[in-house]
Amino acid sequence: MEVGSQGHKGWIRIASWTISGPVFCVLAALVYNSVTFASFAPEIRHQATISAVVVSLGLATPLFLYFSIKLGELASANRQLSLLAATDGLTNCLNRTAFTALVEARLEARVPHGDHVLGALLVIDADNFKQVNDRFGHQNGDLALTLIARAIRSSVRAGDIVGRLGGEEFGVFLPVADRSGADAVAERLRRAVEHLTFVANGHHRQLSVSVGGIVFDHRTGFEELFKLADERLYAAKTAGRNTVRITGCEMAEGDFAILDV
Ligand code: GH3
Ligand code: MG
Ligand code: MG
Repeated sequence: MEVGSQGHKGWIRIASWTISGPVFCVLAALVYNSVTFASFAPEIRHQATISAVVVSLGLATPLFLYFSIKLGELASANRQLSLLAATDGLTNCLNRTAFTALVEARLEARVPHGDHVLGALLVIDADNFKQVNDRFGHQNGDLALTLIARAIRSSVRAGDIVGRLGGEEFGVFLPVADRSGADAVAERLRRAVEHLTFVANGHHRQLSVSVGGIVFDHRTGFEELFKLADERLYAAKTAGRNTVRITGCEMAEGDFAILDV
């Protein structure tokens, strides 16, 4: 890992440790000297003070510099590792575990209006993807998946959460989205995939996704939302694919009432 990976804040932390560490050592040495050499002649005390300052600074400065750089590198490596652990290697989306954890955290977050939490969960599945693999090979199938993931990511806003739930299935969580917002995002990403240019083995193949979604306006668990969105995805598939099926839900005494299915 390069030292340059410390970043601006990292260098500020290194500088503060490299200054404050030796200063602390010098002060400790001076206190020790003042006690140990209290009964000695002033010239000897003067010499001892100079030695204490020079030796402390000479030893502590390079040591604190070295260890604070190493600690910074370790922290940066840890950050990269946790990012890698949270990211799907093929599509660069969050993996299922990280996506679920993040969405659950958002669903459980405290909000000013108590249980009144607005948002939407979309489940997106590539259509007839087995055919893509069969016709163009698994490697080109992987390429198609990365294009689809990119199209999904470019269709959502910065605060939205995108994950690969597994295989050719993706999840998008839209915090604070209402029905019309969720419809718009789902339709935008469906169209973005439809307009992708995917050419493999000299042949063009049109890609498409089906989208199932649930819009909620009360505090809800991830698993319940996922089940409902997945049911809507199934409806989109049976309706012919390359289509969106979203519904709203409202909670009544712990149960969901599905609206306008
Ligand atoms: P449907 O429209 O009903 O979703 O049809 P489908 O063919 O997409 O669904 P099915 O579940 O029959 O097949 C999913 C395919 O997706 C088969 C599997 O090999 C492929 N797939 C899953 N993950 C990957 C991957 O990481 N890379 C590639 N290339 N293919 C994948
Ligand atoms: Mg599929
Ligand atoms: Mg699937």
